[in-house]
Amino acid sequence: MLDSEVRQSLLQWLGQERFRDDQETLVTHSYDATPMLQSLPDAVVYPETTAEVQSILRLANEHRIPIVPRGAASNLCGGTVPVQGGIVVAMSRMNKLLELDTVNLTATVQPGLNTKKFHQEVERRGLFYPPDPSSMVISTLGGNIMEGAGGLRGLKYGTTKDYVIGLEAVLPSGEMIRTGGKLYKDVAGYDLTKLLVGSEGTLALITEATLKLLPAPGVRQTMLVAFADIYGAARSVSRIVGARIIPATLEIMDQATIRVVEDYNHIGLPTDVQAILLIEQDGQELEHVKKDMNDIKNICAAEGATDIRMAQDEVEAEQLMMARRSALSTLARISPTTILEDATVPRSAIADMILAINRIAEKYRVNICTFGHAGDGNLHPTCTTDARNEEEIHRVEEAFAEIFEEAISLGGTITGEHGVGTVKAPYLEWKVGNAGIDVMKGIKQVFDPAGIMNPGKIFAKSSRKRLVISK
Ligand SMILES: Cc1cc2nc3c(=O)[nH]c(=O)nc-3n(C[C@H](O)[C@H](O)[C@H](O)COP(=O)(O)OP(=O)(O)OC[C@H]3O[C@@H](n4cnc5c(N)ncnc54)[C@H](O)[C@@H]3O)c2cc1C
Repeated sequence: MLDSEVRQSLLQWLGQERFRDDQETLVTHSYDATPMLQSLPDAVVYPETTAEVQSILRLANEHRIPIVPRGAASNLCGGTVPVQGGIVVAMSRMNKLLELDTVNLTATVQPGLNTKKFHQEVERRGLFYPPDPSSMVISTLGGNIMEGAGGLRGLKYGTTKDYVIGLEAVLPSGEMIRTGGKLYKDVAGYDLTKLLVGSEGTLALITEATLKLLPAPGVRQTMLVAFADIYGAARSVSRIVGARIIPATLEIMDQATIRVVEDYNHIGLPTDVQAILLIEQDGQELEHVKKDMNDIKNICAAEGATDIRMAQDEVEAEQLMMARRSALSTLARISPTTILEDATVPRSAIADMILAINRIAEKYRVNICTFGHAGDGNLHPTCTTDARNEEEIHRVEEAFAEIFEEAISLGGTITGEHGVGTVKAPYLEWKVGNAGIDVMKGIKQVFDPAGIMNPGKIFAKSSRKRLVISK
């Protein structure tokens, strides 16, 4: 419970509508999209201005109260679970598109703006903001920025970090800093913009962002390719990029995922194959896009594709892409608990990684479906399970630990786009080493000496012991 003096100050500044500590509000802000994690905050506040955020943080800092910034809470790493209680700062009221600058090709936004809504506004002006996490219908730009979110277009266009060029951030002391700006070139000192992107609310609270935009590609074509052999799919991915073709989207779904997605969506996906690739190319000239798609088709055919289907119109293209975007929510229908991870490997190791995941799933007797962004090696092994079955959950945890170990041994990482939060914190040292953790802790100390910003995230009390994998 908050100290009564603190409670009174917040109530006075924000009013009853924007300061809440009733049980219903606390419970609905005690969890996020991550399964099996819940912890009550002491209060939830809804600021509307940067000045309000400054006052809230200054007060919390003085009283050493944890601050948990929150967008749409769609993260999958326990990033917005108030594991040490404190004040959840919900950014839903700071949700404006402040400026769309069609000369500098930038947008200035508040962090609570919904990602999909932003895409639509930008596209209405013939412009393009590529980062497209599958959760964009619900996620906010602030959450995307703080997780360094990726998406289906990461291979060709990069991820959120490549589009954030300026930030307004409030430090725990209540001071406000501005980094970058409407600038494509800026080397004045350390790059604080890039440092804050992906910092998961552990350093500062973002109150405004300047994002880079591109001209919208005029043409888009979409294709679905089926493979009886998963290695054929993986080799096609490498050969497509090796042929100097960078598709806008290059996604993979394994058989287990295809079957569930088809069962739900009924769009005619082939369920007897080992893998499908969903490929999209875009560009300004139809002829160039057609040529790329034709070359891709030839590569896939040479690698043993059993079925190649080109979407005939926008509706079919959208249907195919939705099948992929809805993979997680569709899988969530088949069991009470769905645990999704994002082990990432170099593109050349995708087939080995998928086969390793299948082998590990069999070893631990758990059901894992795999889909993901094949073009950038970012896979989402997803376990359908039941949190009430403690013995099975223990096996799931062991299986995922082995999957992370495998990813690292193939030159990959424990998370490609979902962040560390609480869930991956025990594994961070596996990826960055002791010295890496020390540097990160040093940075945290400079920004947040009292440790109030999203405590319990990124840094674990103790690291998990590495496994020794015998093959
Ligand atoms: C179905 C589904 C599909 C998904 N697909 C993808 C995908 O394709 N790619 C991908 O990268 N991720 C994906 N995700 C994960 C998630 O959606 C993303 O991480 C998204 O970026 C989170 O946005 P959010 O607004 O929900 O942020 P939240 O979950 O609310 O917050 C995320 C983190 O940012 C911090 N934060 C939020 N706002 C601020 C702020 N203003 N200042 C400081 N810190 C802040 C929070 O404290 C937290 O640590 C998916 C999730 C789901 C449920």
